[in-house]
Amino acid sequence: MKKSSIIAVCIALAVILLAGGGVLGYSIAENSRVNIDYQAVLQGISCGNGPVYVIGHKNPDTDTVCSAIAYANLLKNLGINAEARTTGPVNEETRFVLDYFGVNAPPVLENAAGKSIIAVDHNSYTQAVDGMDAADILGIIDHHNTSGISTSSPVYYLGMPVGATATIVWISYLESGIEISKQDAGLLASAILSDTADLRSSTTTALDAQALGYLADIAGISDIDDYYQKMQKAAASYTGMSDDEIFHSDYKEYDMSGNKVGIAVVNAAGREKADEMSKRMTECMKQIPADKRLDNIYVIIIDRENNTSKLIFYGAGAEEIAKAAFGMDDKGDVSFPNIPSRKKDIVPALTEMYKHKGSSNMMHENMIHE
Ligand code: MN
Ligand code: MN
Repeated sequence: MKKSSIIAVCIALAVILLAGGGVLGYSIAENSRVNIDYQAVLQGISCGNGPVYVIGHKNPDTDTVCSAIAYANLLKNLGINAEARTTGPVNEETRFVLDYFGVNAPPVLENAAGKSIIAVDHNSYTQAVDGMDAADILGIIDHHNTSGISTSSPVYYLGMPVGATATIVWISYLESGIEISKQDAGLLASAILSDTADLRSSTTTALDAQALGYLADIAGISDIDDYYQKMQKAAASYTGMSDDEIFHSDYKEYDMSGNKVGIAVVNAAGREKADEMSKRMTECMKQIPADKRLDNIYVIIIDRENNTSKLIFYGAGAEEIAKAAFGMDDKGDVSFPNIPSRKKDIVPALTEMYKHKGSSNMMHENMIHE
């Protein structure tokens, strides 16, 4: 055969293969409409060792509490002995959401040791309830960076870079074919609103917007912005709470290159309230007991009326690190023209700075289980 004939045959073969691939692609798309036996996989994670506790992180927020409740209800609908738990009392915003939809706050689980656990909205020991390192972790449903929880057995792990764990729970409902109740839809919609700051946070994805629309519809939330304003008002009210309780209401700890760093998020309604809260939290940070052995503390003060925020800090070197990470405004403050996400904006930038700073000698081994 001549060289040109060989080339012609090759081209003809390539065309046939490509055309065939197209047909094949079409048939795969058609076949993807099969019912996946999702329920069987989930049912496989249940075990005989008492109920499966679905639980979020310490200092629970609305996403952590509502995702735990709705996911536990999904599992119950699949015949699994599951119960939602929290790590402590719920915050003002979550209280408002639960009351709005007539749902009780889950009981507190003090210690996870020896218990069957599905962790939602976190995957690190530093943010988990005590005893998690001795728990039987069956599942993790989360939207954070992976950072530490390890399991001895194969684990049901659902992780997605979306704005709220609630969005992943919504997908789980769709995949399992279980109808979501009005209450659970309301809780999940609220969780998405809370974690994404009404879809404005930098962590927001198109999937969160889709989930929110779908869930708000089932929940009967007709004016989403108005409902979110009510949540915000509750979040910034901190009724009857001490400054220390306000500080800890949305507080997380991190190990950054051997430095133990605490980061709190505090809400205020309006500039004046934000300035006042900033002063109160500055005092509060100084009172954090030395036995917590924190190297640095940061508080993100959010003005919920103007959607702006400010970062305040405490501890040796914290100011330098904050200013190197985020710059400063003309008043010498570290401020933001929006609401930064702790997990996507603040933590990665600070983590990078601590890499250069190196390890602190304040740290003791075994302080955190990582
Ligand atoms: Mn959370
Ligand atoms: Mn979350």
